[in-house]
Amino acid sequence: MPKIKLHWQILIAIVLAVFIGYLTNKESTFLGIHLLSAFDFLGSMFMNALKMIIVPLIVASIITGIAGIGGTQGLGRMGGKTILYYMTTSLFAILIGLVVVNTIVPGVVDGEPIGEVIKVSEEQIAEAKNKVAGKESSGIADIFLRMVPTNIVKAASEGQMLGLIFFSILFGFFITKIPEAYAESQYNFWQGTYEVMLKITEFIIKFAPIGIFGLIASVVLGLDKESDDIAKIVEALTKFTIAVLLALGFHLFITMPVMLKFLARVNPLRHYKAMAPALLTSFSTASSSATLPLTIECVEKNAGVSNRTSSFVLPLGATINMDGTALYECVVAIFIFQAFGYDLTFTQQFLIVLTALLTSVGVAGIPAASLVAIMIILQAVGMDEATASAGLAMVIVVDRVLDMCRTAVNVFSDSCGAVIIGKSEGEQGILVDGEASR
Ligand code: ASP
Repeated sequence: MPKIKLHWQILIAIVLAVFIGYLTNKESTFLGIHLLSAFDFLGSMFMNALKMIIVPLIVASIITGIAGIGGTQGLGRMGGKTILYYMTTSLFAILIGLVVVNTIVPGVVDGEPIGEVIKVSEEQIAEAKNKVAGKESSGIADIFLRMVPTNIVKAASEGQMLGLIFFSILFGFFITKIPEAYAESQYNFWQGTYEVMLKITEFIIKFAPIGIFGLIASVVLGLDKESDDIAKIVEALTKFTIAVLLALGFHLFITMPVMLKFLARVNPLRHYKAMAPALLTSFSTASSSATLPLTIECVEKNAGVSNRTSSFVLPLGATINMDGTALYECVVAIFIFQAFGYDLTFTQQFLIVLTALLTSVGVAGIPAASLVAIMIILQAVGMDEATASAGLAMVIVVDRVLDMCRTAVNVFSDSCGAVIIGKSEGEQGILVDGEASR
């Protein structure tokens, strides 16, 4: 293959996928091959490969990260900075969402609450309930309970990242407390595992353009292009979609670059470039967990952040730092209240901000995960389940596209966190030449 940069390869794949997906439909075949199944297969293979390495990657990177920080003091300092960064940026994001949704008021069109314009059908409500049901609730106490799983192997096999992270933090920390001979062999073992995982990541990334082509083509091809129902609802939801995109855009193109510039003295444009493959992958997969291997690769290789910082900040960030998701939760919750003609008091809006901040920590880094959190927020502020489900049913139509965008914001914020925290720890290699090698 000619040497085209990876992010260009991915972009070309996305454009081709939209084009081909648009021209074909669910029944189309090529040389006797059913296209939807073929695209599905390519996309699933790529997603599977990324998910395959997540558990060993998270465990090895956190253990080496924590053990490498060197004892209680270093951990306390790095941990404190990381949590402070995550909470502050998520709060900024939510406040941007709050201002935008209160200014644009997407829930009301021509003075009429949109809930009365869009007649949500029984099937749509059932679909919304279906999406939320079965996922365990992410109430606040529940988040803490999940941090301490009864069985770590089961937690790993079920993708319970919080439990896995907590266990790995303990493991890495106590490596520094055992006799040196054992500590050294433990450290070398996990460092070796981590290096192998990065090599496997590099190998998988070579297939990213093909996998992403499959993912996007099957989404576009699967759309019911004839149904004007969708067109009508999208039209009604346009204001809402614009509000979300505006708020996400503000966070991505104004808040984050300002923080990069002033806190880390890093040129934001170079950082966008460094992160391009991870951003495009997060957009295509709508999963920050699945993107984690690429995020680590880009942050270390292109942005020049040390392994010590990135191996701690990024796996944690992929699970608990979701600026785009927190912002989205706030906008959707207020939109649904507007759409059903509720007037929210200041206290209620404050409660939404607070629950969006806390529940975004518990949202998994997988597609559509925030829908569960939105349900919790709506009910926490006093909406009954039936209305909340009807509200969710409205936004589900446009959720996929917005999921892709908010996941990119989630991943970008993690990467900025790694740069800012790395700089504050006195790292010299960050974006010195744009392609700093490890
Ligand atoms: N898809 C998002 C992520 O993986 C989570 C969400 O907002 O649904 O970051």
